[in-house]
Amino acid sequence: MPSEPATVSEPLLSVRGLRKSFGDLTVLHGVDLDLFPGQVHALIGPSGSGKTTVLRSLNGLETAEAGTLTTPDWSIDLAQGLGRRDRTRLAALSSMVFQQHHLFPHLSVLDNVTVGPTVVQRVPRAEAEQHARALLDRVGLAEKADARPSELSGGQQQRVGIVRAMAMRPQMLLFDEPTSALDPELVGEVLRVVGELAHEGWTMAIVTHELAFARAVADTVTFFDAGVVVEQGTPEQLFDDPRSDRLQRFLRRLT
Ligand code: ADP
Repeated sequence: MPSEPATVSEPLLSVRGLRKSFGDLTVLHGVDLDLFPGQVHALIGPSGSGKTTVLRSLNGLETAEAGTLTTPDWSIDLAQGLGRRDRTRLAALSSMVFQQHHLFPHLSVLDNVTVGPTVVQRVPRAEAEQHARALLDRVGLAEKADARPSELSGGQQQRVGIVRAMAMRPQMLLFDEPTSALDPELVGEVLRVVGELAHEGWTMAIVTHELAFARAVADTVTFFDAGVVVEQGTPEQLFDDPRSDRLQRFLRRLT
């Protein structure tokens, strides 16, 4: 069941006027988005509509050429480029879970999870390990701590990818189609973990083609097409009462 939207007045992150081009191709034409604490925001839309680019721009993996990112503590004007302090702030704000988990094949599961906290954040090893073990236990993988990624199923690998993002203790998690690279029978276990984290109150933005999942866990859904936000609202508003032709057509194709 979707949780009731909390009565929060201030977004954890406000995005305004996000613009991004790759060469001559403008892929985001001024995107506005608010991510509220403890809420799940699903980003849906056709392939190539710019959803992943939005997510990567929030995390500093892409540098948009215009727009502002504002939290209760700071604001970044993207037109100025990203300086070192901006990148530190973005890294503390969010961690990304990718389509492909990108685990280091030569490291154990435990070391894959602790490498970020120990190397980047200089967390003492014992503390990072304790946290990593607790998180692995949280997603049902405590006994896999010493395994190599190749010894895990695709779904287990992706759960490690989620734990690795959580280990950085971000304020929010960003998921870029976390199940699209998985065999169909492995999708459920990953979505179940994401749903549980949502229930626990994690703030999340999720790019997904899993519309039933978006309907079940999201507080807010944004529909993108061709680099613009076409509709935004509750899952009920978007899925049961789509206003635009573009969303109606998109839903007809996928449902
Ligand atoms: P979506 O996540 O909705 O599928 P993307 O954000 O991945 O969309 O892509 C939006 C558009 O930007 C697409 O036309 C894609 O080809 C283009 N694009 C994305 N990344 C790059 C890149 N690194 N270089 C050039 N074009 C890119």
